[in-house]
Amino acid sequence: MAHFSDILRQWYEVNRRDLPWRETRDPYLIWVSEVILQQTQVRQGLPYYFRFVERFPGVKALAEAPEDELLKMWEGLGYYSRARNMHAAAKRVVNELGGVFPGDYETLLTLKGTGDYTAAAVASIASGEARAVTDGNVTRVLARYHGVTLPVDAREGAAEINRLASLLLNTEHPGLHNQALMEFGALCCTPRNPNCPICPLLSSCFAYHHHMTSALPLKKRKPARKLRFFHFYLIEDGLHLTIEKRSHNDIWKNLYQLPLLETDHPLSDTELLNNPLLLSLCGSRPCQITGISNTRTHELTHRRIIARFVRIQTSPLVIDGHRMIINRKEIHKFAFPALIRDYLAEAGLTSR
Ligand code: SF4
Repeated sequence: MAHFSDILRQWYEVNRRDLPWRETRDPYLIWVSEVILQQTQVRQGLPYYFRFVERFPGVKALAEAPEDELLKMWEGLGYYSRARNMHAAAKRVVNELGGVFPGDYETLLTLKGTGDYTAAAVASIASGEARAVTDGNVTRVLARYHGVTLPVDAREGAAEINRLASLLLNTEHPGLHNQALMEFGALCCTPRNPNCPICPLLSSCFAYHHHMTSALPLKKRKPARKLRFFHFYLIEDGLHLTIEKRSHNDIWKNLYQLPLLETDHPLSDTELLNNPLLLSLCGSRPCQITGISNTRTHELTHRRIIARFVRIQTSPLVIDGHRMIINRKEIHKFAFPALIRDYLAEAGLTSR
């Protein structure tokens, strides 16, 4: 089994990318990089990492930051619960763990949002703790190399991947082993078109010799994504616009948006322009419709958002319940979901 790890580490020495979090053993910085890279490609996550550690170089700075500022920094990365959980975890480290960010697996697991994968990655890299990681890259390599034909997102398949990962772990160099395996999955044994002809594991790879590289890893059939129909109203007077905060327990919690009407079916233009929300936003003031967008689709993990935007000029804008009126020059201070930020950029109100 040491052979597998030796081959990977030799490959890693030659092929590894130079990434900032590979130059440190600081558990906080490694944790930040691991959380940013969950569900995010390295290329997309890298500028976020640089901005994040410049503004929050240590856990105390993160704990003391206003949540709005953290979400603004996270804007565009998606999966905003990651940022909210990091904030809660940082506060716990400062208030209950003496302000010292933990590097051991068991304590890491107690931090909000830090699951088995992240705890194992940080503990093995920062502290040399013998913990195997099993992220998507590792799962793909192991399923192909060992010919795991159980669905890897079902209990038995995941258990088999975890068993193999622990069995193959190089316990003398767990951090290096884990990073080599993840990097190998990201660069060589890729989801589509793995680079088998130059792969150092080719001679003993099950998938390659059974023509199953595109079939493995096997996944359960996914249920169809739930459709949600969002209709946003950009209410403006030329200088100001109305926004609201998503404070309820749902997607995009604590981010900002334009006033929203959600329905369980698409609305016609007539319905968009004749509903109680719009009537309450405009009141008895004259309202001029300056645009109705086509349908846009925004994919999330379990949902598909079907969105349209209605642009309306009116004056004066009126504060209504939980909504706020902001100067258009202040838009950059608020964190919006990518769907809305892109629309505001197209509308000429902000840059992308
Ligand atoms: S031979 Fe191909 S499928 Fe097998 S481990 Fe190498 S890259 Fe992956």
